Amino acid sequence: MAKKSQAAKAVKMVYYFGKKKTEGKGHPKALLGGKGLNLAEMTSIGLPVPPGFTITTEVCGDYYKSGKQLPKGLMDEVHEAVETLEQELGKKFGDNDNPLLVSVRSGAAVSMPGMMNTILNLGLNDVAVEGLAKATKNERFAFDAYRRLINMYGDVVMGLPHHSFEEAFDKIKKKYKVTEDTDVPAEGLRELCEAYKAVYKKDAGEDFPQDPIKQLQLAIEAVFGSWNADRAISYRRIEAAKGNSEIANLIGTAVNVQAMVYGNMGDDSGTGVGFTRDPNTGQNKFYGEFLINAQGEDVVAGIRTPQPVSEMGKWDKAAHKELMEIKKTLETHYKEMQDIEFTIEKGKLFMLQTRTGKRNGIAAVKIACDMVKEGLITEKEAVLRVPASDLTHCLLPSFKPTARNAADVLCRGLNASPGAAVGKLAFTAPEARERHEAGEEVILVRRETSPEDVEGMSAACGILTSTGGATSHAAVVARGWGKCCVAGASDVHINEKAKKITVTDAEGNTRTFTAKDTISLDGTTGEVMAGEVETQEPKLSGDFAKLMQWADKYRTLKIRTNADSPADSKRARDFGAEGIGLCRTEHMFFEADRIIHMRSMILADTEADRRAALKKLLPFQRKDFEGIFKAMAGCPVTVRLLDPPLHEFLPHEAAAQKQMAEELDVKPAEIKKRSSALHESNPMLGHRGCRLSITYPEILEMQVQAIVEAAISCAKKKIDAQPEIMIPLVGTAAELQILREKVEATIEKTVAAKKFEGKLNILIGTMIEIPRACLTADEVAEYADFFSFGTNDLTQMTFGYSRDDVGGFLPDYIEHKIVPVDPFQSLDQSGVGQLVEMGVTKGRSKKTKLKIGICGEHGGDPASVGFCNKVGLDYVSCSPFRVPIARLAAAQAALSQK
Ligand code: ADP
Ligand code: MG
Ligand code: MG
Repeated sequence: MAKKSQAAKAVKMVYYFGKKKTEGKGHPKALLGGKGLNLAEMTSIGLPVPPGFTITTEVCGDYYKSGKQLPKGLMDEVHEAVETLEQELGKKFGDNDNPLLVSVRSGAAVSMPGMMNTILNLGLNDVAVEGLAKATKNERFAFDAYRRLINMYGDVVMGLPHHSFEEAFDKIKKKYKVTEDTDVPAEGLRELCEAYKAVYKKDAGEDFPQDPIKQLQLAIEAVFGSWNADRAISYRRIEAAKGNSEIANLIGTAVNVQAMVYGNMGDDSGTGVGFTRDPNTGQNKFYGEFLINAQGEDVVAGIRTPQPVSEMGKWDKAAHKELMEIKKTLETHYKEMQDIEFTIEKGKLFMLQTRTGKRNGIAAVKIACDMVKEGLITEKEAVLRVPASDLTHCLLPSFKPTARNAADVLCRGLNASPGAAVGKLAFTAPEARERHEAGEEVILVRRETSPEDVEGMSAACGILTSTGGATSHAAVVARGWGKCCVAGASDVHINEKAKKITVTDAEGNTRTFTAKDTISLDGTTGEVMAGEVETQEPKLSGDFAKLMQWADKYRTLKIRTNADSPADSKRARDFGAEGIGLCRTEHMFFEADRIIHMRSMILADTEADRRAALKKLLPFQRKDFEGIFKAMAGCPVTVRLLDPPLHEFLPHEAAAQKQMAEELDVKPAEIKKRSSALHESNPMLGHRGCRLSITYPEILEMQVQAIVEAAISCAKKKIDAQPEIMIPLVGTAAELQILREKVEATIEKTVAAKKFEGKLNILIGTMIEIPRACLTADEVAEYADFFSFGTNDLTQMTFGYSRDDVGGFLPDYIEHKIVPVDPFQSLDQSGVGQLVEMGVTKGRSKKTKLKIGICGEHGGDPASVGFCNKVGLDYVSCSPFRVPIARLAAAQAALSQK
């Protein structure tokens, strides 16, 4: 008995949903896919869902494991489910009276919009089509459904070319002297089905299958097959590269077989899609479109222009009212904004799909805040709900109002995805990709995008389409990525071949733009403007500020920023930074009036000459530090002493070397000599970081003096400066011991020289970025007041990758799943993470209160922030624009790790 139930459990491949039973409810999404699970859930809460069944993702996994074979026993289970379906609906597969028709739909655990194929009206054959005509008393409809099936089936299952079908259709239309598909009479469609079957036989080399079960089996295999179609693979790769690790781990797609309902039965029928709230703004208003007398993909395909759902009441008041009630039911049940698909058959509404609606960060924040207000979710849930990285959308640039007002507006499309984009026109996806890789900012212009275009869409800074609607492919994908998109700008006429667009503006003038021309897109208003319109940075306010306050309430990690200038420091503070975790000093040397002194220092042969040059740099540094301390008054500022190898400050080209020689009044040969002497075969591992200060202590002395003098000057002005001096690239305790003594001596000397009597509280610590420093962190800690993990270099040195040329192989590594994501974007927790953990444990074994932070790029990556929280760091530091992301991610980590 036990044995039998175990065996049955192991092989359950099909889950039924309907009035008879709902087997899928409560099972994992990973097993049933999102679509399958939600069809089961909607059924169980009493929403009108056509019944059907779901074949699990595991079956898809097995299908590929066994070299594309359906597992044994699957079709038996399918048979059984079909029988249940027949009983429930009182219809029979292939019946000549009232035939059962089904759709065969894909559905992975993570939604991949339009990436995989759907077949509608399956189960029709020469007999059943007559039965359908009889049962519906609508011959035209029955043959229309049949011709759609033959075409879709030929396309999806057999991979037949579409144009042969199109030619056959054109012939019929000509014969009946009509131009629209919808005007072909019933007998024309009857003839068309015969013609389609002939096309099918010719191209496929066999007859269109008359056995519905055979149709079903091949359709199931085709859905499994589409899982590994190029476009599906591309989509998953791009999503994975964006850090969507969930998508990289999927085993396959589920298949949903569902009884058909018909939106194409006449003017009392229709089909639509929508969001329960506005996915752009977050406004609590149903946002959707519908088409009368249409089936399936007609709404999104852009063949006919759909109407907004707000107009639906004028057409069918009851159906509209029911839809609005369903909105409420769904949101109360899921406590989330939903993205739905529905069909109305002769006035009766059916739900065909629901899932969590994609939204941009702006909408996510508003919806989360509103739902707290509405009592649907708690503050904590709101904090956990907004994907931290999507806050980028709230931090998107917009156009400067003055520049906007003066802009040369060409036309207006739909505001499909907010933001501002400025770029040159690219006409195909491959072109967009190539030009982007060559360093150009491009805007992809298409009539409409399709899943084949995703790589080009990803490369473009903005997307402009001339026909798509608000729920078109371009709009949905762009929104998911937070990319600026203007869709359906019908005044834009695209000539892809000639690589130009013509736009008829409000005054009726026709203007032409080519690949060389720049345009500006406002995804927030839908406007298309000629030329480059100046953009501006965003601000923190409203719901965004509220969410940030909630986040601050729950997080324990402090958030600092990486900033090298007073302006950046101020911006970061406005975004909520509580200190500077990394102030790089080398950038301060590059300005025109400073680099010359730096260079003469490098060129100097004696210590005395070096000191003379450094003396000229000192006032610049002091002033920079004072500005930063002031902007960050009351907050700690970690200043990293000079880090890069010196040759980075020298010009490498002959012309520039000649000019430098003139300025410094030396021979060009001397510069060349010095430059080649400094040349290193692997600068990453070269004479840099603390090694510089060991060889040239006078550089360290100048920098420390500048820091101390700046702090003293602040103290005199009653500004609370809190400098922390950070020594980079330490690999041995001895390095830090020697340099710490030097720093302390310099502090003392400077204080004495300034006769400063007040209190300065300057910490001295080190950046931990060499594996050996992690391994010996207990020894290093003896001389450190703080550690800051420089995870960029630590990643480079742990993997042995150079960040500068990793682009050559990293995409292949991600594709082959050698690494799940770019380790420079998201901390490699299992490898590099061990070193960080070891550094923390060993460091604190010596000094329990050792202050520890992280200052690599990883400080703004939500997953890495979670890791830092887990291993007990005190703070993370990231670029100013990622500070809000880090605040939210830190709160999410604190809440979910409790
Ligand atoms: P996708 O995942 O690409 O959205 P779907 O499986 O949702 O594909 O199918 C696309 C469309 O086909 C649906 O939005 C719906 O309009 C139509 N469709 C699917 N199944 C049925 C059905 N059983 N009855 C009527 N229409 C259906
Ligand atoms: Mg769908
Ligand atoms: Mg470094």
